[in-house]
Amino acid sequence: MQTYDVIVVGAGNAAHCAALSAHELGARVLMLERSPQDQRGGNSSFTGGGFRMVFHGVEDIHKFVPDLTKEELETSDFGDYTAEQYLDDMGRITQYNTDPDLTEILVQQSAETVHWIREKGVRFVPEYGRRAFKHQGRWKFLPGFVLAAIGGGRGLVEAYFKAAERIGIPIRYDTQATSLIRDHTGIIGVRVTSRGVDEELYAKSIVLACGGFEANREWRTRYLGPGWDLAKVRGSRYNTGDGLRMALDVGAQSYGQWSGCHSVAWDRYAPDFGEINSHTSAQRHSYPFSIMVNGEGKRFLDEGADFRALTYAKYGRIVLEQPGNYAWQIFDSVGSQYLRDDYRMPGVTKVKAETMEELVTRMEDVNASQFLETVRKFNAAIKRDVVFDPNIKDGRCTVGLAINKSNWANPIEKPPFEAYAVGTGITFTFGGIKIDTTGRALDVADSPLKGLYAAGEMVGGIFYFNYPGAAGLMAGAVFGRIAGRGAAGYALGQTPP
Ligand SMILES: Cc1cc2nc3c(=O)[nH]c(=O)nc-3n(C[C@H](O)[C@H](O)[C@H](O)COP(=O)(O)OP(=O)(O)OC[C@H]3O[C@@H](n4cnc5c(N)ncnc54)[C@H](O)[C@@H]3O)c2cc1C
Repeated sequence: MQTYDVIVVGAGNAAHCAALSAHELGARVLMLERSPQDQRGGNSSFTGGGFRMVFHGVEDIHKFVPDLTKEELETSDFGDYTAEQYLDDMGRITQYNTDPDLTEILVQQSAETVHWIREKGVRFVPEYGRRAFKHQGRWKFLPGFVLAAIGGGRGLVEAYFKAAERIGIPIRYDTQATSLIRDHTGIIGVRVTSRGVDEELYAKSIVLACGGFEANREWRTRYLGPGWDLAKVRGSRYNTGDGLRMALDVGAQSYGQWSGCHSVAWDRYAPDFGEINSHTSAQRHSYPFSIMVNGEGKRFLDEGADFRALTYAKYGRIVLEQPGNYAWQIFDSVGSQYLRDDYRMPGVTKVKAETMEELVTRMEDVNASQFLETVRKFNAAIKRDVVFDPNIKDGRCTVGLAINKSNWANPIEKPPFEAYAVGTGITFTFGGIKIDTTGRALDVADSPLKGLYAAGEMVGGIFYFNYPGAAGLMAGAVFGRIAGRGAAGYALGQTPP
């Protein structure tokens, strides 16, 4: 009856890493994907393709990107990202809630996993446009991560699909896993529904890598809280928590921050879900060079608290908490030099004017007199003697405001002025199930559920409250690879259950 050794549910980053690593051990693997083929790749296909990994200087970057030119090597300052820095970022950002064992593995296996992905055919480049500013003739990268897959998320997943195709791993599209099948030996299969037909598929082990519940309005409201039903989904519409429900139904332990998620400032009028072939981009990540105000015309967060990659994932929630769930980002002609390409694409909700008074009349739903007062007070509070530098936390701050801006505080005074309306875009949810360090799903007594593995967004315990940019794909790849290896070892009788 058993056709496959390992069934992997999902076809994003974590699922592919699981399938490819299970195949390396000799397992016969099947992948199941709920979406139609032309929407394949899950949230992973919407990403910028960035991977946060440990590296030491230009030599390491050169190993990942051997075709960097001599000029690129000479004019780029990639910096370093040590294991200590990575661990420190993970600890601080999650308020020391992150699971120490899982984080240690994420960090220690990050670089070797990116090498492994490269062997599978994914190619990487330094993200010059988004992660580096040119300073005195040299590209200086912001600390944390440098590399992204060529072609971004789309390029990443297409390289994975090619790798799977090359070695003959079948993928069934339009096939939604609905529940797990178990007997006295453990998990032995999965029930699916495909184009209206229900079916049972059997395997010796199952890897669940089918995302969180960010695309499920009802669960968002239930677990994240009131207002989250109104958030826009940045990526796939198919991650509705099926895998989590299936795992909990067979006794898996819920783990991590179920009330938490990754969410960002996102165009106020963006569509409800990400659109895979869209030529617009709703992300509004240049806020460190702006001030943000709510409908009352007041600032409500520290736009320059830290580098963008260390604050953006928690600021979506703060926008959602504002009256009416929206805010505006304001730039003058100095700040607007640092706008990412996303701000220049069609479909952006933006207004522009030569004076502040004119600007605010064009900004929908904002208290004009309070807004003008906020800008005046902000400009007056800046320590103008500190030199502005976008590459470092420059300490150019405001003093004496109820909410100060800690870095990159430039006055909003040089026309033309631009304002961008933002709401909240949810990226992925933090709550998941508990796994051990070999990818096995654990029950409430921390015992492995035989035959069941998990990876990717489904794994709880890694991110809490916030998230360091580009750690999601990295965690999915590290634990996907581990889960695939574990599932294959179990299926082939090479590892104990
Ligand atoms: C706009 C955007 C940009 C991002 N940029 C980055 C970045 O640059 N770097 C980074 O590290 N992270 C980034 N992220 C986060 C990143 O997308 C996730 O961390 C990562 O992709 C999760 O991978 P995954 O494999 O767990 O899930 P997914 O890639 O979402 O894969 C899950 C798959 O499971 C399928 N599925 C769901 N339910 C079922 C079911 N019942 N049966 C069968 N299949 C099912 C889905 O269709 C999907 O294909 C970004 C996210 C978004 C939305």
